[in-house]
Amino acid sequence: MMDMENKTGNIAVVGMGPGRESMMTDEALQALDSADVIVGYTVYLDLLGERFAGKEFLSTPMKQETERCRLAFEEAAKGKSVAMVCSGDAGIYGMASLMFEMKEELGADGTGIRVIPGITAASSGAAALGAPLNHDFCVISLSDLLTPWELIEKRLRAAAAGDFAIAIYNPSSKKRHDYLQKACDILLETAEPERACGYVRSIGRDGEEYHTCTLRELRDAEVDMFTTVFVGNSQSRIIDGRLVTPRGYKL
Ligand code: SAH
Repeated sequence: MMDMENKTGNIAVVGMGPGRESMMTDEALQALDSADVIVGYTVYLDLLGERFAGKEFLSTPMKQETERCRLAFEEAAKGKSVAMVCSGDAGIYGMASLMFEMKEELGADGTGIRVIPGITAASSGAAALGAPLNHDFCVISLSDLLTPWELIEKRLRAAAAGDFAIAIYNPSSKKRHDYLQKACDILLETAEPERACGYVRSIGRDGEEYHTCTLRELRDAEVDMFTTVFVGNSQSRIIDGRLVTPRGYKL
C-alpha cells in the first residue's frame, strides 16, 4: 500500500486553491499542518495567513521556480518534511512537473513526492461566472515565457475549430499587455463577434469581480495577471447576467 503520510524527508506539492483558506482541501491543510518547512512564492505564502504563522517559510521571487524546487529538495535532504505550495492546482501551470524533473536531475531517489490537488482557477472562476465550462473545454495559457507564441496561436485556432469553450490563463502581464487582443483576433477568424465570454479577477480573494461580454468586447477588455478569461462555445449564452454553456438537456 502507498504511504500517504507526508513523512519526514518527503515533499508534498500542495495546490492551495485560488486564495482563501475555505477553498483549500482538508488534505492540503493537513499537509501544511504537518510540514516542518513551507516553500513557495512570497505572494502565496502571504495568503496562507495566521494559521501557519509558526512555520518555517522559505521563498524565492517569481521566475526563480527552479531555485525554489532545488531549495525544497535541499530541505528534504536534511530530513525535514517539506510542503511546496502553488496557487490553484499544483499540476496545472504549477510546480508539480518541475519537481519530478528536478528529482530525476538531482538523483534524489530517497525523496518521495506527493501531489495534493487544489481547485484550479478554471474551476473556481467558472463557478463565480456561472457555468461556462459545462461541456467540452480546454485550457490555454497566453504566457510565452516557456511556450513559443506560434504554438499558442496554433492551440487557439484548434480550440476554436473544435468549438471548445476555453479557459484562458495568464491573459496579460506588464510586458504582454496586448496578448488577449491578439488571442481574440485569432478566435475571431472563425468565431462570431457576439460569442458569449467573460472574465473573473481575484477569484477567492478580496475584491473578486466577474464580467460577462461578447468576444468583440473581450478583445478590448482590461485584464491583468490575476484574471482568468472564459470564451464560450457556439452554444454559450448569458443567462441572468451569468455565462452559461448548456450541456444539451431539453427543457
Ligand atoms: N496553478 C494555478 C495557475 C497558475 S498560472 C491554478 O491552477 O489556478 C497563473 C494564472 O492563473 C493567472 O495569470 C490567472 O490567469 C490564473 N489565476 C490563478 N489564480 C487566480 C485567481 N485567484 N484569480 C484569477 N485568476 C487566477
